[in-house]
Order: sequence, then structure tokens, then C-alpha cells
Amino acid sequence: MNGWVVEVGGAELLEGLDPRKVRAIEGIDPLACHVPATVIELGQWVAAYYCCPLGVTLPSLVPAAVRRGVGTKSIKFVELAVSPAETPRGLSPRQRAVISTLERRTSADGPIALESLRVEAGLATAAAIESLARRGVVTVTEQSTVQAKWREHSLPGSAEEVTLSTDQGRVVQSIGRSIGGGFSTHLLRGVTGSGKTEEYLRLIRRVLAEGRSALVLVPEIALTPQTTGRLLARLPGQSVAILHSGLTEAQRHEQWRAASQPGAKVVIGARSAVFAPIPDGELGLIVVDEEHDSSYKQDQAPRYHGRDTAIRRAQLARCPIVLGSATPSLESWHNAVDRLNSHLHELPGRAPGLSTPTVRIVDFRAEQRQWKDKRVHLIGPTLHRELERTLAAGRQAIVLLNRRGYANWVACGAGGACEWRATCDRCDAPLVVHRLREGAGASRSFVRCHHCLQELRLPKECPQCRGKVSVFGLGTQRVEDEMGRLFPALLAEGAMQRVDSDTMESSLHFHTALGRFASGQCRVLLGTQMIAKGLDFPGVGLVGVISADTSLHMPDFRAAERTFQLVSQVAGRCGRGSGGGVAVVQTFAPDAPAIVRAAAQDFVGFATEELAQRAAHRLPPAWRMARIVVRDQLEGGAADAADALANGLRGLPTSSNCRILGGSPCPIARINELYRSQVEVMAPGAAQLSALLTDARDRSLLHLGERMAVDVDPLSML
Ligand code: ADP
Ligand code: ZN
Ligand code: ZN
Repeated sequence: MNGWVVEVGGAELLEGLDPRKVRAIEGIDPLACHVPATVIELGQWVAAYYCCPLGVTLPSLVPAAVRRGVGTKSIKFVELAVSPAETPRGLSPRQRAVISTLERRTSADGPIALESLRVEAGLATAAAIESLARRGVVTVTEQSTVQAKWREHSLPGSAEEVTLSTDQGRVVQSIGRSIGGGFSTHLLRGVTGSGKTEEYLRLIRRVLAEGRSALVLVPEIALTPQTTGRLLARLPGQSVAILHSGLTEAQRHEQWRAASQPGAKVVIGARSAVFAPIPDGELGLIVVDEEHDSSYKQDQAPRYHGRDTAIRRAQLARCPIVLGSATPSLESWHNAVDRLNSHLHELPGRAPGLSTPTVRIVDFRAEQRQWKDKRVHLIGPTLHRELERTLAAGRQAIVLLNRRGYANWVACGAGGACEWRATCDRCDAPLVVHRLREGAGASRSFVRCHHCLQELRLPKECPQCRGKVSVFGLGTQRVEDEMGRLFPALLAEGAMQRVDSDTMESSLHFHTALGRFASGQCRVLLGTQMIAKGLDFPGVGLVGVISADTSLHMPDFRAAERTFQLVSQVAGRCGRGSGGGVAVVQTFAPDAPAIVRAAAQDFVGFATEELAQRAAHRLPPAWRMARIVVRDQLEGGAADAADALANGLRGLPTSSNCRILGGSPCPIARINELYRSQVEVMAPGAAQLSALLTDARDRSLLHLGERMAVDVDPLSML
């Protein structure tokens, strides 16, 4: 059995352990990799804080590719084993050529690779070298290195230097002062387009100049190739390691090894790069870009949050950490404004040369009344006019709908009493219509469950009353159809691209699509939140939001926060060049505070109101939360187990200040034939929550595994 060395010491380490459970170390795995002590310590913190067994947590510190040694090549080196006087007689001319090549080398040259030796000695094969090795005249040693094949992995950025604005300079100065001064947390709230990437870059350069390394976390990097490209272009000649899921296994291994090398460097990566093996004592700065992004939270055990784990890492490394966002999470905002353990820095205006976008909220109920036909329309007259104007002016547009597929509502259209709706037979979830193009304008529809991913035929008639089936609702494919009808020229020129996880099978597809948009070949990007993040294209004059309501009515206390973030972020994609920018936001809820505040770009107003609500309802971030989900084949089994757990928790003395909600069915009460019930634990602070969970673990109330999952600081409430 493989294990991990987490601590080295004497007999005292065995104290309190059952001797029958202790094994002697038999040997060291030849593929064993060295993880810095602070990273092991970070792993121990993750295991304790996120309630995950250490044995499950430790393997996630190191990519599987590294543990398996993918891409390792061994290189053979050759050295003379005897002095010139001892060289045996009767050697063949080829063998003599090898010996004399080796003798010409000085000790400063070091060992020579077998391949180079063969070439230098003018030999066609290595047979002569091998026979000398067998006779003990030369020694051959093997060393392993990792080499990966590379392809362009990021969008190239501009290498041009810019002059910082007064605001930008002030923020770099004030955060910069803490470099080298131990642990500190900084929240950088800068509106979209305020030049946060530029700020990170200046801070990173300072750290490198002091001979220390910087760690930059970005949301799922395959989706943010532009940020990476821009940083790379501005750090020429620096060593940079990149760690993300879009890499091949061998590349990941190679980059991990590069990160572990001593010396000043920049490591850029997605969530799991928080565990990058930067040697102890070398880390000088951590940056978490778009710190509010939910892709920082891992949705399987260990369910850690990359940002919060990064804060812990900065503490262990005694270095500053900068959290940047235009729409900070309420957790980070709360820490910065209420608790004073985090410093707040603000960039209130856009960078020089950018204009502030005008955001127009469009009441879609009023727009709908303007149509005379009965057709479903997703693009209202206002957005239609703005699209025409933008395209006529030769500018580009981004159209967002945060929902994949064609339509999300398949139901009986016979009217009358029948209320049939197509739902998944394995999940408590509706089926979503997707279309498959089959060339020559033909397409075929099918339905898919977005939870268990099974695909079925679109029913032709209602299974209950044999009436006709109707398809309602919206999805990016339907918007694509309508855009094609409204702007046939775009289709003909291939100047419109749909970007969602159905069309973008790999990060390469996404890079190609963004590349075509950057070059102007593509005029309209249409897609899900994939296009709402981080994009910086000066040609974008218009952003259209098909429906701001997709996340507004989710059974999740963060629904308003998510809506605010999505609308603010996507609106921020326009007005980055000359000519200004307009965002048109279609909604059925034009008065919803999240939408009104996002349109007014009033983060502080939104956050203040929302935080007060959360505090009043004793929800995060005012309170701390853990969610425990119990799964069972039987509905009653899940419900009973959740009830028993809730009652058990209520009986613990450590729960006296806490609130235990449930057991109750999860909002999605069944996924993949398993019933799901939940218990929500609310504690007034992190310490109380942690004490309660530890207590529950010690008393075996929590059995982590297939049937029970514990999520501390959960982001998903479904
Ligand atoms: P954010 O990440 O805050 O949305 P970006 O870092 O994307 O902002 O910056 C927006 C754009 O403004 C980028 O193209 C960037 O190169 C440019 N920019 C930033 N600062 C300056 C400056 N001081 N002068 C000129 N251009 C700048
Ligand atoms: Zn399903
Ligand atoms: Zn029916």
C-alpha cells in the first residue's frame, strides 16, 4: 500500500496510535515526488476544515499525472570508468572512437548523454558504447526528465507597456508596501476594465525583482486564456509555470516539476494550483483573480474553496495575498469592510482609453406586446435595433444567455386538464431540448437530462393524453436560430459563433473562437457565462443579455448575488475601445434590486443591502454554513438518515449556538436514481462550526463516503 510521509520524527509520533495499525516503510516509490512541507500542512488544514479524510485529501495535492510519472523520459549518460592507462587493449576502431571522444572532455563538461556521445564519435548505433559498458570501461547512468509537447495554449497578449493612471499607481503603491512584510490580505475591487491585470503584473514584477515567486490563481484557466496570454506577454524572460486542466498529462507533469524548481518564478493556474509545489520560503505573493468566481470551489471531496485555501497558504508562507474582482463575493466584501482583517483597495474608474458602458434595462413584458405574430421571440425590438446599429457601424457584439440547449420546457400542449411535462426518469429534473445539425440546414431534436446526461428521443405526442407536445423556454441554440433569421448575412459569412460547453469541446475550440473574434472575422459571440468572464476586446460596442432572470429564481440564497455578478461582468465586456459601449439587459423582473443595481454599477449599494438581508436571516457570510447531503436508493432511506443525523447533531452540546435545518429533501430530490436529503448547519462563526463538525465526526454521526457528503461553506444549494 502506498502512503505519504507527512511528518518525520521519533517514537513520539506513535503515541496514541494502535500498534496493530502501524506498518513499517518497505521502500520509497521510484515515482515519489517531493511536496514542500507548507503544502502538506495546507493539505492537513484542508482535511480538517472541509471535513475530508486526510487520505482522500493528500492525493489531490499532486496531479495524477505527476503521481504516475506521465511523460517521464529517462536519459542515459556515459562516463569513463577507468584512467587512460587502464584502457584495455584490443578495442575495435569504433570502441576507440568512443574512448577518445570521452577523453577529450574535461570534468567541467560533466557527463555526456549517450546519444550525443554516439553522434560525436561518428557512430551509426550505440553498440560500441554498450559493449564498453559491459566490459566495465565506461559507466552508463540513467536520469529521468519530463518533456512534453507544446502547442500554443494562450491567446497572445500585447507586450506594450502602459503608464499607470493615478488611481492605479496609488493602489500598486499601497499593496506593494506589504510585499516582504509578512501575511496580509488585500481585496482589490476594481470596476470591469479598471486594469486589475495591470496591477497584478506590477506587483508580480516587484516580487520577482526581490528573488521571490508569485502564485496567480485564475478561474478555470481554459476559460480565461486572455488573462494568461496578457501576463505572459508582459513577463518576457521570466520563468513561468502554468497548471490547468486543459494541459495534456505530460504537460501537467512537466509544469508541476517546473514549479517545484528553486528560483524566482510565476506560477499561473486554476483552483488546484493553490497546491503548487513552490519551494518553502520562496513564495512572495499570491493573487486570486476574479475571486468571486464559483469555479474556485471544488464540487467533490475535498470540497475546498481555492480562494480560502489560498488565504491559508499565504498565512503559512507569510506573504501578502491580493483578491481581485469587480464584483467581490459577499464573503470577501464582509471581511474587508466589517472585520478589518483584510485591506480594501478600490479602482472606481475604468483604465485610460476605456469608456463606461451605458446599461439599459428592457422590460420584456412590454417588448412582447409589440409583436403581432405568435412566434416565440427571444430578441426584443430594443436589442434588435441595437444589434443592427452596432453591426452597421462595423463593431462587434456579445450576446449572453446563461442556459444551454434549445429549450428547457417540454410539455403537453393539448391544453385542458393535462399537465404532463417531460422529466428525467432517473432524476427529479426537467428534460432539455437540444438540436443536432445534420448539414444542409436540416436538424434533429432530442432531449437530454443535464444531471445524469442521458439522452432520449423528443416525444411526438403526450404520453398521458396523446395530445401534441409543445416546446417552450429558452436556450443558446434557440437564440442562435433567431439571430440567423434576423441577420442572415452573419450566418452566410460565418461571422457568428456560439460558445457554450456543447460547442466548445476543448479549450482549443474556445481559443480558436476567441482568436477569430479578436481578428474581427467573427462579429458576434453568443453564449453562456463562458463569454461573460474576463474578455477584453476593444471592438465590442454592444452586449445583449437575453434574459437576466435565469439565475434569479433559483432556490439558493445567493441567487441575487449571482445575478448581480453575471449582469455586471457581461456588461463590463463592452466599451473597451473608442466608440463607447451599450449593454441591453432583457428581463421580466426590471425592478429586481440585483438587476437595477448591476445596471447602475452600484456594487456597494447592492452589497450593503444584501449583507443586511443575509445577517437578518442568519445566512453566510454573517453566519457560517455546512451542508450535508445523504443519498439512498430509497426515498425513505435518505429522509430517515437525514432526520437521524439532524437529531443527532441537535443533541450535541457543541450545537447549542447553532441552527440545524432539516432533514429535508434537496431541491433536486433525486439524481441518477438516488434520493437526496439534506441537513443544513448554521453556526455564528467558523470556530463554532468547526467544533460542531469535529464533534460529530468523533461521535461517528458523520460517515463520509458514497452515502453522505459534507460541504463546508457550500456554493451549490441544489
Ligand atoms: P479588468 O481586469 O479590471 O477588467 P483589464 O486589466 O482587462 O481590466 O484592463 C482593461 C484594458 O485596459 C486592458 O486592455 C488594459 O491593457 C488596458 N489598460 C489598463 N491600464 C491601462 C493604462 N494605465 N493605460 C492604458 N491602458 C490600460
Ligand atoms: Zn437525469
Ligand atoms: Zn397531455
